[in-house]
Amino acid sequence: MSKLLIYQPTIVNEGKVFVSNIIIDGGIIERITKDVPEGDYQTIDATGLYLLPGIVDTHVHFREPGLTHKATIRTESAAAIAGGVTSFIDMPNTIPNTTSYDEFLNKHRLASGNSYANYAFYIGANSENQSEILAHEDPRIFGFTDDGLYFTNTRSLLVEQPELLEHWLRCSSLPVSIHSEMEEQIEKNLEKARENYGAKTPFFMHPYIRNEEVCVQATTLALSIAKQTDGKLHVLHLSTAKEAQLFDVGDNLRDKKITSEVCVNHLWFTDEDYMRHGANIKCNPSIKSIEDQTGLLKALNEDRIDIISTDHAPHLENEKSQDYFNSPSGIPMIQHSLNIMLELAKQNMISLEKIVEKMCHNPCILFGIENRGFVREGYYADLVLVDLQHEWFVTRENIFYKCGWSPLEGECFSTKVKTTIVNGKIAFDNDGLSDNLHGKALTFKHK
Ligand SMILES: [Zn+2]
Repeated sequence: MSKLLIYQPTIVNEGKVFVSNIIIDGGIIERITKDVPEGDYQTIDATGLYLLPGIVDTHVHFREPGLTHKATIRTESAAAIAGGVTSFIDMPNTIPNTTSYDEFLNKHRLASGNSYANYAFYIGANSENQSEILAHEDPRIFGFTDDGLYFTNTRSLLVEQPELLEHWLRCSSLPVSIHSEMEEQIEKNLEKARENYGAKTPFFMHPYIRNEEVCVQATTLALSIAKQTDGKLHVLHLSTAKEAQLFDVGDNLRDKKITSEVCVNHLWFTDEDYMRHGANIKCNPSIKSIEDQTGLLKALNEDRIDIISTDHAPHLENEKSQDYFNSPSGIPMIQHSLNIMLELAKQNMISLEKIVEKMCHNPCILFGIENRGFVREGYYADLVLVDLQHEWFVTRENIFYKCGWSPLEGECFSTKVKTTIVNGKIAFDNDGLSDNLHGKALTFKHK
């Protein structure tokens, strides 16, 4: 089989932007070189295109097993590679919840041979499963979370069970990732809305019900608990400027015990968008003010926030079209996360190098993903080629999600994913998917 040559892309990697050639052999980046040795190559002419490491999205809900009417690993991983995402980490609130090692193995069985992108699965953290889960040594286990589990079991957020959170942080050497909101206060706010407006509660109430206070309180408490332990706390989807300021500035992620994430929905939308999008941008935590949006971007650039992900959480349109109380929270976002960030780069809100750091390098460093996330010789060839001067519109026809809709429909993006390479194979090219699926299980190496 001939080697793959990517000819003359502009590479964005590890803080540098430069033109070079890339030779791929057997799924691995063999050489990054100015001069191409004689040989038989399958060539991609990437002159004028930008090449980034494939995006690593560490927070998605692909709904399989149990909720496959909304989405499947196959459909959503197709959307992922169409958006330049080559690896994803899926949350445990599938049905049954991924709270046992058996369920964790079952998810790997479901994904094997069935995913366009590389995959890993969180194990859900609860009050009963700790000793069972921690007993397993498996290079595919990288961390634990409570994210999404509160949908099946109310009051299961770790931050509302301080002793349990502390216990997990003390006993696990791996990151414990938390959904940081105070459900008890949210329930009171919900009750008030129900009394005042009933089924007519408008969607713009969402950031008043899931407000700044419930986030700041929860994150403040979680950080104080984490600082008393030696554990690794990762706070998911920060949504307020105030919370972001609670995290230390620092670009040496390898030494950080307390880390955080922001999702593209909180960087792209503001509370003003509820009037136009209603349920379609209802997510937890809620989308907040323009000051929060600006503050999150600032914190990202200051390295208070370490990674960008999507919290991709598809629902069917007829589920979303119910009233405020019954419309499920979650937005499908994975296909356009890179476009969103590149658009922000064009508005000088963030640099290309910073995008690559937060979406490619840092997820791999934080979770210990082996040999991915960088354009380096000897690493897996997970790569994306983007055209930074190509206008196109998001329409129903070019959405890959099983649910078939996006709050971004009608949006004009000025950058386009041209080609996505997964494990050295062309997985997506000029709007088309490959016939074969090349995703593999991610493996992890812990310090
Ligand atoms: Zn989530």
